[in-house]
Amino acid sequence: MSDFGWEKNIRKVVPYTPGEQPEDKDIIKLNTNENPYGPSEELIKKIKELDIDNFRKYPNPAASELVEALADFHGVSKDKVFVGVGSDDVLAMSFMTFFFFFKKILFPDITYSFYPVWADMLGIKYELVPLTEDFEVKAEDYNKENGGIVIPNPNAPTAILMSRDDIISILKNSKDSIVIIDEAYIDFAPEGSSVIDLIDEYDNLVVVRTFSKSRSLAGLRVGYAVSNPMLIKYLNNVKYSYNSYTMNYPSIVLGKSVIKDNDYFKGTINKIIKTRESFSKELKELGFKVLPSSANFVFASHPDVDAVKIFDEAKKKGIYFRYFNAPRINEFLRITIGKDDEMKKVTDFLKDLVTEES
Ligand code: PMP
Repeated sequence: MSDFGWEKNIRKVVPYTPGEQPEDKDIIKLNTNENPYGPSEELIKKIKELDIDNFRKYPNPAASELVEALADFHGVSKDKVFVGVGSDDVLAMSFMTFFFFFKKILFPDITYSFYPVWADMLGIKYELVPLTEDFEVKAEDYNKENGGIVIPNPNAPTAILMSRDDIISILKNSKDSIVIIDEAYIDFAPEGSSVIDLIDEYDNLVVVRTFSKSRSLAGLRVGYAVSNPMLIKYLNNVKYSYNSYTMNYPSIVLGKSVIKDNDYFKGTINKIIKTRESFSKELKELGFKVLPSSANFVFASHPDVDAVKIFDEAKKKGIYFRYFNAPRINEFLRITIGKDDEMKKVTDFLKDLVTEES
């Protein structure tokens, strides 16, 4: 027991553990699903053109320029877009707005490990819905009483994509609760996988996106939600009750500019998908089980070599993977797709290790 009288009166939470961000630039960093390719020349030009005088002033609280550019990009009106400081901020605001104390919310037992943290912090009860043996989300399992649903598509850390039909069946079966589809990695999935186009048809759907992965801008912190104007209004009400100026001046201006860089970002996505496919093939040739990935990372395990051993040995060589010590996945590693030359070094390292250990 602590000597401090206030100890029992304050909020104590178990925080989310973000992936390591080592200072050393001379490593192969495949632990936080960042994009290995930098932003476009166009964006670098825009960074140089930032107006220093604007740093003195408060930014536009509605981040209107950015909201309008995103609305244009998705072909929706601007009252259907909400922006935040990365999708973590948008998701946290969504948990605060859409989920309450009365009924349990549902999310997969293996998923983005921030969801239970937000729920616990906000006093929202939740039920973990087990993935199938093949680590897939089974839509029928969500057909039960709930106070909300949140599912990443593709799921993390499994990288497995859910079909649009399955999402539609979840939306139809839970009409009285909000369904959040977290599309952080959707740009690496086959075209037509997103459900943004369904927001008018299903008034309980909120789709969350980020600039951190496919748009190479994890450092800028821009995320957004697309939904119907009523739900966006409720989100804004919570935001303005919490922090009016979530978006800073550079993220508004640069975020807007990056939306116009579609050709550049499509090019880097295609390169990553190509590398993902060849790397997955090589892992399988080394005996790894690799879950089918529609994201910019793969989730893999080896029958003979312990995941912790691979993780530790890789780190000694300056190769960073992500490991989750959690039930059902403690023999897996999540490996972000880097550039071809980086993945070649990773394959060489794994080949040596597997040969030694098998
Ligand atoms: N959702 C999922 C499924 C993620 O993996 C991540 C990245 N950690 C995020 C949301 C948050 O990303 P960001 O805040 O950088 O947009």
